[in-house]
Amino acid sequence: MLFKTTVIIGLGIIGGSLAGALKKFGVSERLIGITRSDAYKRAANIGLIDIGYPLDNLGSVLKDVDLIILAVPIRKICAFIPEIIPIVKQGCIITDVGSTKHAIIAVSNTFSREGVFFIGGHPMAGSEKTGFEAGSAELFQNRPYAIVKGENTPDEIVTKISEMVTKIGAIPIQLDSKTHDRIVAGISHLPQMLAIALMNVIGKENDQDKRFFQMSGPAFIEMTRIAGSSFSVWEDIIISNRLNVSNMLQNLTAELERLQKSVEKLSTKKDFEQANAYRKRLLNG
Ligand code: NAD
Repeated sequence: MLFKTTVIIGLGIIGGSLAGALKKFGVSERLIGITRSDAYKRAANIGLIDIGYPLDNLGSVLKDVDLIILAVPIRKICAFIPEIIPIVKQGCIITDVGSTKHAIIAVSNTFSREGVFFIGGHPMAGSEKTGFEAGSAELFQNRPYAIVKGENTPDEIVTKISEMVTKIGAIPIQLDSKTHDRIVAGISHLPQMLAIALMNVIGKENDQDKRFFQMSGPAFIEMTRIAGSSFSVWEDIIISNRLNVSNMLQNLTAELERLQKSVEKLSTKKDFEQANAYRKRLLNG
């Protein structure tokens, strides 16, 4: 196995799914979960983790482990890094699953310690649901998994975490934190904002005429699925990637204004043809 003892802090949908995947695909001999609520007890009861602890036990639990995965909201990841780095053993690897990377990598660079290795991670998988009950060991199958080095991350640590990612069925993609955050602003954060806007526009129509929701079919329901996402996770994403998200929203606003003019002129054929071609490339690689 790649690791003897792994600790996951935060057993939400991502932390819980990782716990399941590390067990199922034989990545770690022993798996410990730490949560702020009693979720660790429920996770241990169903065998998702070998043993669990509440957050107040950090010092004694973390002092002799090989891998720590931070699976909590981004600002909490940033807060845990300086708390954890001084108390772990030499050789310990710390990684995270936060949806943005620049702020997290900056904190890890500031608090780096000789012989303790931080490496950022971001599985491009998940859902609008929360909690480990909504997760699955299969969540990462064939999904990209971003790996982002810090200033002092040695290549052998990149290789080891890439091996972990491959073992759980995901596809490791190494990139720098700035590029990561710009790309996810486009492919993840912009769709989230679009779903929120679409849901609110049509929700207000429905307030006037209930038939808007009554008449809704699969296209509207699919396109607004992520409008059900929890703000508690998204707040930190928006705070830590504000400029990129704002730039992408500006691009979208310009495109929507252009499309509106095309609709008025009944000249949307080219827009459809271009979008059809891009989508083909998206699906065919
Ligand atoms: P979740 O709500 O399912 O789980 C969050 C976990 O963090 C819970 O265990 C919660 O108790 C814990 N937590 C929240 N605030 C805390 C605090 N102040 N102190 C200690 N623990 C706290 O959310 P999730 O989707 O699993 O998100 C976890 C991380 O994964 C986030 O950083 C998010 O950006 C990232 N992520 C989410 C997705 C997704 O689609 N959901 C995808 C990739 C990455």
